[in-house]
Amino acid sequence: MIPASSFSGKRVSLFGLGGSGIATAHALIAGGADILAWDDNPDSVAKASAAGIATGDLRGADWSRFSAFVLSPGVPLTHPKPHWTVELARGAGVEVIGDIELFCRERVLRAPAAPFVAITGTNGKSTTTALTAHILKSAGRDTQMGGNIGRAIMTLDPPAEGRHYVVECSSYQIDLAPSINPTAGILLNLTPDHLDRHGTMAHYASIKERLVAGSETAIVGVDDSWCAQIADRLERAGREVIRISKRLPLTDGYFADGSNLMEAVHGRYSRVAFLEGIGSLRGQHNAQNALAAVAACLKVGLDLGEIQAGLESFPGLAHRMEQVGRKDHVLFINDSKATNADAAAPALSSFSRIYWIAGGLPKEGGIEPLRGFFPRIAKAYLIGEAAPAFSATLGEAVPYEISGTLAAAVEHAAHDAALDDGGEAVVLLSPACASFDQFKNFEVRGEAFRQAASAIDGVKPIGGPR
Ligand code: ADP
Repeated sequence: MIPASSFSGKRVSLFGLGGSGIATAHALIAGGADILAWDDNPDSVAKASAAGIATGDLRGADWSRFSAFVLSPGVPLTHPKPHWTVELARGAGVEVIGDIELFCRERVLRAPAAPFVAITGTNGKSTTTALTAHILKSAGRDTQMGGNIGRAIMTLDPPAEGRHYVVECSSYQIDLAPSINPTAGILLNLTPDHLDRHGTMAHYASIKERLVAGSETAIVGVDDSWCAQIADRLERAGREVIRISKRLPLTDGYFADGSNLMEAVHGRYSRVAFLEGIGSLRGQHNAQNALAAVAACLKVGLDLGEIQAGLESFPGLAHRMEQVGRKDHVLFINDSKATNADAAAPALSSFSRIYWIAGGLPKEGGIEPLRGFFPRIAKAYLIGEAAPAFSATLGEAVPYEISGTLAAAVEHAAHDAALDDGGEAVVLLSPACASFDQFKNFEVRGEAFRQAASAIDGVKPIGGPR
């Protein structure tokens, strides 16, 4: 745990007592703060009290006595409207911050040179965070990973010289971290997302921009116009910017040329790493993630040999284009995290003979946006409530069956793929739907797929995420 000593002897209010809120409260207490915590959910308040955290309704509190208000990132700061606690804090002139901010202040106090890689973007955050941490760990660096992935940031080991932090940041967390100052800040991409919580695309982009604006080195994916403009703006402001592109040769920066990751210096190119044969990093989207990880690892001093070794041993993340098994020429891929059409696109674009398991609880727009990938689909196996609507979209364009259940879909797809003599055939669960009609969540759905695939005679498991 990281004791939050920056508020030692001060009074701090806190709202949001989920897992990360409780961890933050303990960190503040351990650092010597006098805290008052609250949540709208009485069960969470009771749990926190039982864990020794002072709780009390913040409506009746004397806000003039608080030095800071620590808000959980799940609670609205601005949109659709500020939470009532935020109004009270602002009314009393109390700063509103989150756990990433507490970490940043602690790092500055204890070990300002401790390498800190912070990662944001609309898509690929978790993969890039896990990959960067994996490369650093494989190279023998003391590495702590957390934030929006895995462990809450204040539960990590305290900042120390030579200890590396790799931290995934959602836009909500950045919004609550005014002094965020990573050694390397990564902004992967920007597409409309969570606009219910951010109002406009411009506001959403401006929050993400803050992470790279505060960085010693800003690593920015320039394949979308929002990020390209941010990179230009930072450079004009005299910041160190490293551009990355998954598709375009750049004059300066890092870009992907097929599976080769290239460095460009004033228009001269050299290969720094390659992804050929790395099953956990297939697809152009993963080239973007890998380029960002490579740029960050170079920034903190790894050599190319260490980086390549880390890329090659990366096990991937569960449920994201995860290779779960193989039988001869048939590969089984679990992409259960793809809960809408946009999220299913990367997997569909990464393979050419696809036995596609799709369906569940449909989202607006269905699979119409995926039409461009239909020629890659040998056959579709439709499950759940979305099956009738999806079958209507597939129409004559793609052979399909309504399998109903995931178990039946896996069995039928595996059977058909085994008969395919066109090279590698992929049985792909990339449902483009939420899971809740048939499963508790996407993780349970992905596990069910793994089990069904593994139960097929002759399927050998593939390494898989640890
Ligand atoms: P996040 O943490 O931002 O949600 P993940 O790394 O968990 O991202 O990946 C979630 C899904 O997003 C993946 O299954 C894949 O479909 C897609 N994805 C991953 N990386 C990228 C990227 N760089 N660009 C676009 N889509 C991506």
